[in-house]
Amino acid sequence: MADMKNSELIFIPSPGIGHLVSALEFAKRIIDHDSRISFTVLCIKFPFTSFSDSYIKSVLASQPRIRLIDLPEVDPPSRELLKSPEYYIYLFMESLLPHVKSTIQNILHMADSNPVVGLVLDFFCMSMVDVGNELGLPSYLFLTTNAGFFGTVLSLQKRQIDDVFSDSGPDLLIPGFSSLVPRGVLPNPLFSKDGGYLAFYKLAQKFTETKGIIVNSFSELEQYAFDDILKDEKIPPVYSVGPVIELKGQPNPNLDQAQHDKIMKWLEDQPPSSVVFLCFGSMGSLSPSQTRELAKGLKNSGVRFLWAMRSPPTKDNADRTLTEGFLESTQDKGMICGWAPQIEVLAHKSIAGFVSHCGWNSILESLWFGVPILTWPIYAEQQLNAFRMVREFGLAVELRLDYRTDGDLVLADEIERGIAQLMDKDSEVHKKVQEMKEKARKAVFSSGSSFASTGRLIEDIIRKNSC
Ligand code: UDP
Repeated sequence: MADMKNSELIFIPSPGIGHLVSALEFAKRIIDHDSRISFTVLCIKFPFTSFSDSYIKSVLASQPRIRLIDLPEVDPPSRELLKSPEYYIYLFMESLLPHVKSTIQNILHMADSNPVVGLVLDFFCMSMVDVGNELGLPSYLFLTTNAGFFGTVLSLQKRQIDDVFSDSGPDLLIPGFSSLVPRGVLPNPLFSKDGGYLAFYKLAQKFTETKGIIVNSFSELEQYAFDDILKDEKIPPVYSVGPVIELKGQPNPNLDQAQHDKIMKWLEDQPPSSVVFLCFGSMGSLSPSQTRELAKGLKNSGVRFLWAMRSPPTKDNADRTLTEGFLESTQDKGMICGWAPQIEVLAHKSIAGFVSHCGWNSILESLWFGVPILTWPIYAEQQLNAFRMVREFGLAVELRLDYRTDGDLVLADEIERGIAQLMDKDSEVHKKVQEMKEKARKAVFSSGSSFASTGRLIEDIIRKNSC
C-alpha cells in the first residue's frame, strides 16, 4: 500500500433514513478497514426529516473518527415543486452548492484537519461534483442502491434532456440488465414531466466526472450488471462494497422500548418459520381500499403475520381501516405494529417470509437473513428492484412488479396465493435465497469480494491523492 498519513474524506449523504443509515455504516467500515482514514460528514437539514439529526448524533457518539458539521439551513424550494419529489430534492441540493463550497473551504483551512483526499457523495448530491472540481478534490459516488439502478440512470446519458419516457412502447435495452426491461418497472421520475426526468438526466451527466462509483451491493448478486456496465470505457472504477447493513438496527422515535419488547415477545411465542412479516419501508403506505384487500388476503391465507404500518389503526377505526372483525378473528395469529425493528424481526427464527416494498436496504437485509420476499414495490426504484429479484435473479416470489399507488388494486385472492407460495419452504426461491445468504455474508468478511473491493477503493483514493 502506498505510504499514507492520516487522511480525511468528506461525506455528503442524503438525509433520508434509507440513505443515511447505510452511508454512516459505510463510513464506519472504511474506518475499520484502514485506521488512518477519518470522515467529516456534512449534515443536510432537509425540510421533512428532523429525525436524521438524532440518528446521526447517536452514531457519532461512539465514533471519534467521524466528525459532523451542519450545513446552514436554506429556504426550501416552493412546495408546488413537490409534484416531483426527486426534482424538489435536486433543486434543494443545488441551492446548497455555495454553502457546501464554503464549508469545505473552511475545513481545508482548519489547522486540526487531516488532509482531505476526496468527497463521497450520495446520488442526490451529484451536483456537488462541481464543488469538488473547483476545489481540486476527487468525487466518489456512494450509491445506496444497486448496479441495476445505476445502469438505468446511466442510460439517460444517451438520451435527450427533454426525452421523458412514455409508459407505452417497446421494452428497453438497459446497461446492466440481462433481459429487456418493461417500461412499467422504470422508476417514477423517468415518466415525470414535472422535473423528475430532468433531475435524473442531470444527475446522470455527473457520473462520468467522478473518480469512482461505490455501490452497496455485492458482485455475487449482480455480477452481470457490474460486468456489463464496465464495458463502457467512460465509466470510472466501480466498487461493490455491500451488503452494508446496520446490523444493530436503528433507533426510531416511533418505536419505544416497551413496544420493541412487545413485538419481540410476540415473535418468541410463535412456532419456528411460521410468520410472514409485512413492511413497506420508511415511507410506504397503502390506500384504504388496498389496505382492506391486504387484510382480507392475509386473513384468508391463515398464515401468522407481523404487519408494520406507518399509521397503524386504533381500536376505534380498525374495523374501517382493515376489514370488519379483522382484529378479533386474527388476534391469535397476528400482530400489527408501527415502526418495526426490522433487522431483529428478519433475524428471528419464527419469520419465514417477507412481504416487502423492495427498497434496496430491505432486499439486502432479507438476503442477509435468508428470508424470501414477496414483491410489492411502491415508490422510488422499487419496481426495478422487484423485477430483477424475480426475473433476473430468481430470488423473490412475484406478487406485483409494476404496482403503483394510482394503479390497479392487488386483490385479496392474489395476495392469498402469493403468501402461500412465499411460505412454501421447499420452493426453488427458498433454496436460492439460502445460497445467496451464504454468499452475502462471505462477501463482506476478509477475503470476500466486497471486502477486497473496499480495500481497492482505499488504495485508489490514496494513490490518486499521492500522484
Ligand atoms: N425499517 C425498519 N422498520 C420499519 C420500516 C423500515 O427498521 O418499520 C428500516 C429497514 O430495516 C431498512 C430501512 O428502514 O433498513 C428502509 O430502507 P429501504 O431501502 O428498504 O426502504 P426506504 O424506506 O428507503 O423506502
